[in-house]
Amino acid sequence: MDATAEQPRAAVVGGGVAGLTAATFLARAGIDTVVVGGAESILRRNAHLENVPGFPAGVNPRLFADLLKRGAERNGCLFEDGTVTELAPIEGGFQLRVEPDTEAPGDGNARTLVADYVVAASWSDPEYLRALDAVGLVDRGSKTYVEIDDDGRTGMDGLYAAGRIAGKAHQTVVCAGHGADVAVTLVEDSELPFYHDWVAPEGYFTDRGREVPPGCEEIDAAERRRRERESMAVMTEAFETPHPDEPTTHPSLSEDREGT
Ligand SMILES: Cc1cc2nc3c(=O)[nH]c(=O)nc-3n(C[C@H](O)[C@H](O)[C@H](O)COP(=O)(O)OP(=O)(O)OC[C@H]3O[C@@H](n4cnc5c(N)ncnc54)[C@H](O)[C@@H]3O)c2cc1C
Repeated sequence: MDATAEQPRAAVVGGGVAGLTAATFLARAGIDTVVVGGAESILRRNAHLENVPGFPAGVNPRLFADLLKRGAERNGCLFEDGTVTELAPIEGGFQLRVEPDTEAPGDGNARTLVADYVVAASWSDPEYLRALDAVGLVDRGSKTYVEIDDDGRTGMDGLYAAGRIAGKAHQTVVCAGHGADVAVTLVEDSELPFYHDWVAPEGYFTDRGREVPPGCEEIDAAERRRRERESMAVMTEAFETPHPDEPTTHPSLSEDREGT
């Protein structure tokens, strides 16, 4: 990536609930967005997710996580597998070191990414931030959290934190909402025009003699129906069969089961 490119670029560290939601909002605002992190969201340990709005009988959490990723992809986010092990400020942005997650010999070297903005959504790993004096880390028991202001900014310009790693409560919707909130902060801090991200019916603004605001869209009835049919097809296919994956267990339990 080139931090000097005209379109702002963001790297979101962590492809879990907060990271994928933040990334979707950033990409929809016109920010070139890459999500780094192929490892599992903690959500994949859940048995059945019952407190997410819009799912009256709950939803398989692994399906929900897959759908979050599909949403980020559809909105133009790119994905890099691996673990971020270092984050260094450079002129006008950041450089990230990404280590491959594979242990297979010769299966890839560390890579470097460059971004204008970074969102740390990497529960529960803040280690790549430890060398940054301007970023506050707070140890609480066995966990470490990143200090942020009310809007998700860390002590370093251009670096934000979202979700559990930022000390938010341990629920999916809280962390998703925080990812969205922090992304809106980032967009507002950037040079991009003010952003609403609304899809409105044709005429909603223009019939009142108003311009369609930046980030908003008006669509006619035919387009509205087309999008509805597409959404029905995507969701019908997603819910057609039970999800194939079992819940991931707690790492300490899998170690016990492996006899380690
Ligand atoms: C057993 C269990 C059941 C749960 N049940 C519910 C429930 O019923 N309802 C509910 O609302 N919530 C539930 N939760 C909580 C919910 O899953 C979390 O609150 C939510 O996933 C937190 O979102 P997050 O994005 O902060 O973290 P995550 O979703 O865990 O995402 C963090 C991501 O960052 C990645 N990452 C970490 N370090 C790095 C790094 N250095 N580089 C790159 N990537 C990195 C991780 O691999 C992960 O993909 C449950 C959790 C567990 C464990």
